[in-house]
Amino acid sequence: MSEVRKYGLVKRFIRFITFVDLPIRRKFSFFAVGVLFWFIVLSCVSFYVLVDVNIKTAQVLDSLLPYERFAQVTLRKSNEMTYLLSDLNGAVTEQAVVFKSGRIKSQLETIKQNLEQLNSTSIISPVRLIWQKISDNSWLDAQGNSAYLDQVKNTISDLSRLLQDIELLRNAELNGEGGNESKLKELVGRFVALENQLAESSVTFLESISTQTNRYSTTITTTISFAFWTIITVLIFACGLLAVFTFWISNAIVCPVMSMITKIHSLATGHVDLTDKIVIRSDDEIGEMSREFNDLMDTVHGMTIFKSVIEEDSTLEDVYSRMGEAFATNVGIEQYQIYEVTADSRGMQAVYPVALSEKDLECHADILACCEQCRAVKTGHLVSSLAYDGVCKQFKETPDKLHVCIPMIIGGHAGGVVQFVFDRNTLSRTVIEQQIARAEAYIKQSLSVLEAKRLMNTLRESSLRDPMTGLFNRRFLQEQASYLIAGTLRRKKSIGLLMCDIDFFKQVNDQYGHDAGDQVLKETSTIICDSVRESDVVVRFGGEEFLVILNDIEDGMAIQIAEKIRTNIEAKVVRVGAHKIRKTISLGVSEFPGDSDGFWQAIKYADVALYQAKTNGRNRSVRFDEEMWTEEEF
Ligand code: GH3
Ligand code: MG
Ligand code: MG
Repeated sequence: MSEVRKYGLVKRFIRFITFVDLPIRRKFSFFAVGVLFWFIVLSCVSFYVLVDVNIKTAQVLDSLLPYERFAQVTLRKSNEMTYLLSDLNGAVTEQAVVFKSGRIKSQLETIKQNLEQLNSTSIISPVRLIWQKISDNSWLDAQGNSAYLDQVKNTISDLSRLLQDIELLRNAELNGEGGNESKLKELVGRFVALENQLAESSVTFLESISTQTNRYSTTITTTISFAFWTIITVLIFACGLLAVFTFWISNAIVCPVMSMITKIHSLATGHVDLTDKIVIRSDDEIGEMSREFNDLMDTVHGMTIFKSVIEEDSTLEDVYSRMGEAFATNVGIEQYQIYEVTADSRGMQAVYPVALSEKDLECHADILACCEQCRAVKTGHLVSSLAYDGVCKQFKETPDKLHVCIPMIIGGHAGGVVQFVFDRNTLSRTVIEQQIARAEAYIKQSLSVLEAKRLMNTLRESSLRDPMTGLFNRRFLQEQASYLIAGTLRRKKSIGLLMCDIDFFKQVNDQYGHDAGDQVLKETSTIICDSVRESDVVVRFGGEEFLVILNDIEDGMAIQIAEKIRTNIEAKVVRVGAHKIRKTISLGVSEFPGDSDGFWQAIKYADVALYQAKTNGRNRSVRFDEEMWTEEEF
């Protein structure tokens, strides 16, 4: 939408009239309406011409042609009458007069009949009547035509009367009743004059008909040529507009689609610049599709970068925190918790964000003690309260909260779970599903990296631990010593060092066998671990020698811990088969940096103190003293 608003007025108008921002269906509907409009325009022009030509031709057929035929008949009959009249003058008997005047009468009658036929009004359709009224009828001289008919009508009746008078006078003359010759002459003269007048007006009328016919032809030609040029102009205009529209619409559809095809092809072949976006040209479905495609590219780009970044992260914790950032920043999920199944596959721990207490978690603490309590870990499937309310009993259900738990399947087993929590009231189901789909994509990208990192951790762990007792080995101490020292010095605290050696251990091997010896070693290591804090480090230093590193202790505390260990071991009875074995342990105690600035030197001092404990009678703890240290002796 924002791209469209950037255009100026003119461009916006062009976009409006070319339907660029309308949905495709409406775009094509308007396009069809446009085509239909031009069809209607063309049809109207053609219809107008057809109706006009048709009605004018009908007018010619109904009015002009019969009038012309009538005028010709009238002309011919009047000529014949002239001849018959002269013949009437030559008649010598009354019968001949009656006969000849009868012939003239029949001529007049014929003209009269034709006239009546012409006047008998034929039924004309109302459409034609309206059309004749509104269209241009100047070519037709309707008034002149009817005037001619009136004139013929009057002349005929005058002629009939004259003929009657002539007949009477002529018969009287023949019967010797003393005809009036001059009167007869006058009547004959008037008859001839009227006849001539009729002939002349008929000739004039025929000329007028010819003129009207010519005018009709000109009008029809003009109408047809008007229609022809109108149709041509409309066709050119409509075709031009349709071409522009077709180009515009097809361009708006084809360009982004082609661009998408090219990008998809590039994706398939692996050569693509994911930051190069498709230009959004319209605000219709194609524009929407381009926008979605660009978002997809963004996601793919984000994923690719995300994976390359986590691959180079050094620790699992770093990977978890990157996943968390991606959920929050790229996906937009604010509340989430990443759990990791512990190395022994029994429990779980909240690894990111690091939960300070169980109260901070959305699940009951049972899942931390036993990972099988977690439905997602147990089933290896996505668990969502969106699909089924209260699906997991371990989720601390509240009416407003929804949870979606996605197991992280590593090496065929759930290696952890990502839990997303949503507020039912603020997000729609569709938005949640979209966010989950994107989050799942990030989780999938992370799985191989998590698997590799966990494997590396396991390998590393195994190289730093003693397999029999599970305690750290000397190699661990060598690697971690520098961090231990730096941390202690920074916090201005002390490390207590306890060098422990089981008394007369050789006897156990000799008396009960090597396996019994191993058993005693394991039990001893457990007692030592249980006697110190979680944060302290127990190292199997030699065969039956242990080094306990007590972190952040107060001055003088180390010897007390040493005593605790000693008494705990002294009290322990180890059962090996039917035998009960009791052993004691001797401990040498030193402190870093209290006794020495050098960490390894302080360990050596603890060893010196141990030697002292052994020589003093064993089963005791001895605090190092400077007097014990003589270079020559050790
Ligand atoms: P001391 O009181 O002087 O320490 O006497 P000790 O017998 O404990 O001392 P010594 O160092 O002579 O003997 C240690 C024995 O521990 C030698 C070795 O056989 C045994 N040992 C070392 N590692 C192991 C182990 O992993 N398993 C078993 N069973 N025995 C071990
Ligand atoms: Mg020893
Ligand atoms: Mg020993």
